[in-house]
Amino acid sequence: MECRVLSIQSHVVRGYVGNKSATFPLQVLGFEVDSINSVQFSNHTAICSQNSLWGFILSLLMVTGGLGKGEAGSRNTDTPFSPCGGPTGPWRPQQTMVGVEDELGGFCRLRGIKVILYLSAYVTGYAHWKGQVLTAEELQVLYEGIKLNQVNRYDYILTGYSRDNSFLEMVVDIILELKKTNPSLVYVCDPVMGDHGVMYVPENLLPVYQEKIVPLSDILTPNQFEAELLTGRKIKTEEDAFEVMELLHKMGPGTVVLTSTDLPSKQGDKFLVALGSQKTVKPDGSKTSQKICMDIPKVDAVFVGTGDLFAAMLLAWTHHHPTDLKAACEKTVSVMHHVIKRTINYANDVAGPGKKPSPAQLELRMVQSKADIENPAIAVAVRVL
Ligand code: ADP
Ligand code: PLP
Ligand code: ZN
Repeated sequence: MECRVLSIQSHVVRGYVGNKSATFPLQVLGFEVDSINSVQFSNHTAICSQNSLWGFILSLLMVTGGLGKGEAGSRNTDTPFSPCGGPTGPWRPQQTMVGVEDELGGFCRLRGIKVILYLSAYVTGYAHWKGQVLTAEELQVLYEGIKLNQVNRYDYILTGYSRDNSFLEMVVDIILELKKTNPSLVYVCDPVMGDHGVMYVPENLLPVYQEKIVPLSDILTPNQFEAELLTGRKIKTEEDAFEVMELLHKMGPGTVVLTSTDLPSKQGDKFLVALGSQKTVKPDGSKTSQKICMDIPKVDAVFVGTGDLFAAMLLAWTHHHPTDLKAACEKTVSVMHHVIKRTINYANDVAGPGKKPSPAQLELRMVQSKADIENPAIAVAVRVL
């Protein structure tokens, strides 16, 4: 039977984030994908730390300033800013990243202290980006057209990065309508807010996620920091992580996957830990749950669009394994592994010996990974806990 997904995410002309990261792999797996582009940019806007000096350098650059909480903190607040990869050193910013001062520098606040970041020598991102942002009204108009033609019946809705409060509120309205049209619609939500202690969307999005989006979602894919934000609970141990996921279940979603954590892997420091929890109701009404742990081989580079690909693949594989999170995640992380391996091999080849690949060279090798997406050889074992 035909399975139709409405995907509301970013579009980039060059590269793979948002809808560019989700549409092709879902289509390859047989899904019909209707995409609404929340932004249309020339390329991704992420600033990616390329080495572990990050934290050290940032700590040297900390300066105290007089920014009070709630004060507008940016001269350029409509510039999206996503410090993907994030600090890996001893220093972790705790407060909202409110904007950038120019394309390779900026500031954020650490407990009210202004922190200046001038990173051009140490981080890479595309030097430029250009483009347009879809407004809440424009989103409504597009949905209106779909509705007027009575083609607003979807099996899935998938959402990712959104940096505007009224846009997110409009997404809520659309989901509510779509769930009325099809009560068995599944909402897959990547609550993109930040990473490694840094929020890179406005703070006023958090209550919308907490009060409206998460309660509507069926499958939620936060990273550790996003799960902590949503629940107000810190994760220091695996036990904490499962308690946080339990709180998230109580807020709505039956399936929660922490796509990446800082927790140590039993397989050593070359692995990153992702965790999942699923609650299902069997046909006889009895409840079951499954908790899983994934030890993912780390690749020493920062990739962009991987969170978006992860959410799309989890949608696809939970469609085939709705009550077996282990099976769905095994396929999802195996796809991730194959795509990332192909990407880093290619990027290193084109960068040349001893050179760090550029962001353009590190764009995901999506088209080239078609066969792995269609039929992923299991490369990452998932443990049921
Ligand atoms: P988010 O953007 O939501 O924080 P990430 O992009 O960090 O999510 O991670 C999503 C998935 O991408 C991870 O679960 C992992 O499978 C894969 N991934 C991302 N970066 C790496 C990396 N450097 N090495 C190995 N896997 C990675
Ligand atoms: N959308 C845009 C426009 C971006 O620039 C980014 C990352 O910078 C993303 C989405 C999300 O990327 P990821 O999947 O790596 O979180
Ligand atoms: Zn993410």
